[in-house]
Amino acid sequence: MPLRVAVYPGSFDPVTYGHLDIIDRALKIFDGVIVAVARNSEKNALFTVQERIDMLTEILKDRPQARVETFEGLLVDYVRRAGATVVIRGLRAVSDFEFEFQLAQMNRNITREVETLFMMTSVPYSYLSSSIVKEVSHLNGPVDKLVPPLVKSALDAKFRLGR
Ligand code: ADP
Repeated sequence: MPLRVAVYPGSFDPVTYGHLDIIDRALKIFDGVIVAVARNSEKNALFTVQERIDMLTEILKDRPQARVETFEGLLVDYVRRAGATVVIRGLRAVSDFEFEFQLAQMNRNITREVETLFMMTSVPYSYLSSSIVKEVSHLNGPVDKLVPPLVKSALDAKFRLGR
């Protein structure tokens, strides 16, 4: 049987326990998961693409079936090049649905070879987003339950170093 590889694309600015939950659950379904950091998310980002890749690589180092990459341009082109057939996206509140639905339809329009699979968030992470993490950290609030320690330190360095 062929290996089933899925791509989990996103900005991951920075990676949260919500993302990691989706990755771990996807790893139970697929032989391999490529976590793909979108290069076009460089603008308005707190962390550079390289910083995001480095954090993800370190955090995922004990999961040999997960690989971190970056991509530019059309997602479906990248997915085909990577030898994958499935795109994984996470769904949180209803508000995610509209945009994700549009994106999935557009990708399906471009090619039928790539299927989008939605995974429902786990309840504790329903309202967790990279944006809220940045906001809380910026305001000196606790983010320990939202991101791994490595990401917390990176946030501290961004917001508090040199103050
Ligand atoms: P994007 O900018 O592409 O939305 P994100 O890094 O914000 O990138 O998210 C990547 C994917 O992970 C998206 O499908 C998003 O819905 C999903 N995601 C983000 N946070 C969570 C969470 N807390 N629970 C489940 N899925 C999530």
